[in-house]
Amino acid sequence: MKVYFHKDFYEVYTSDPAAASGRMEAIVRAIESHVTFSTFSPATDDDLLRVHPRSHIDAIRREGVYEIAALAAGGAIAAAETSLNEPSFALIRPPGHHASVDSCWGFCFFNNMAVSLHRLKSSGRIKTAFILDFDLHFGDGNVNILGSEPWVEILNPEASHRSTYLNQVQRALEATTADVIAVSAGFDNHLEDWGGLLTTEDYRTMGAWVREAAHRNGGGCYGILEGGYNHAVLGENVMAFIEGLGEPEATAG
Ligand SMILES: [Zn+2]
Repeated sequence: MKVYFHKDFYEVYTSDPAAASGRMEAIVRAIESHVTFSTFSPATDDDLLRVHPRSHIDAIRREGVYEIAALAAGGAIAAAETSLNEPSFALIRPPGHHASVDSCWGFCFFNNMAVSLHRLKSSGRIKTAFILDFDLHFGDGNVNILGSEPWVEILNPEASHRSTYLNQVQRALEATTADVIAVSAGFDNHLEDWGGLLTTEDYRTMGAWVREAAHRNGGGCYGILEGGYNHAVLGENVMAFIEGLGEPEATAG
């Protein structure tokens, strides 16, 4: 599978856990022999302005994180564009699902998901989209920006029991007819991460359900990294999801 990654994501750009030293390295170590890393360009201001006003972009610039945040959004765009031909994943940071139109929190600056979906929508390549956000935390930014758009469905599964959680995901994916299925893939709800709910195999299972739904709909699917903070298990969790999302017969180049 094509994984969009840039060496600048190794940079520790803030003191928050998403920017922690060693986090990207842990993921790269786990997946590098199984995937193809691909390059991409940062999101342009035109891309960002489809979602955020100039005032928000300027505020992020003043915080000194514009370059890395625009690069992350560019990775999401690249994964989105590839997704219409083959499943793909954006291994990016900072994350984005807590970024709203003109505010942000929770280690996020630009809404990578919204920027990527608006790029597909504005170029006429999709009519509808489904977002699965399996991060531990409710993706308020995704919902604030896209939740009232008639062309977008969003699922933030929420259950204290693992089987109930997985049932919600499975049922929603069985029902969607969207042209693209995009995953806000945060791994902080793993048994050994902050949320303590999901197994590594569950990420593989959800990835496979996403792939099957996209295939049934004749559409695309991609994931973009959100949270996930236990470096000891993060890499294998990302790998499991990628393996589920990829075509079963595909061999990595
Ligand atoms: Zn989270």
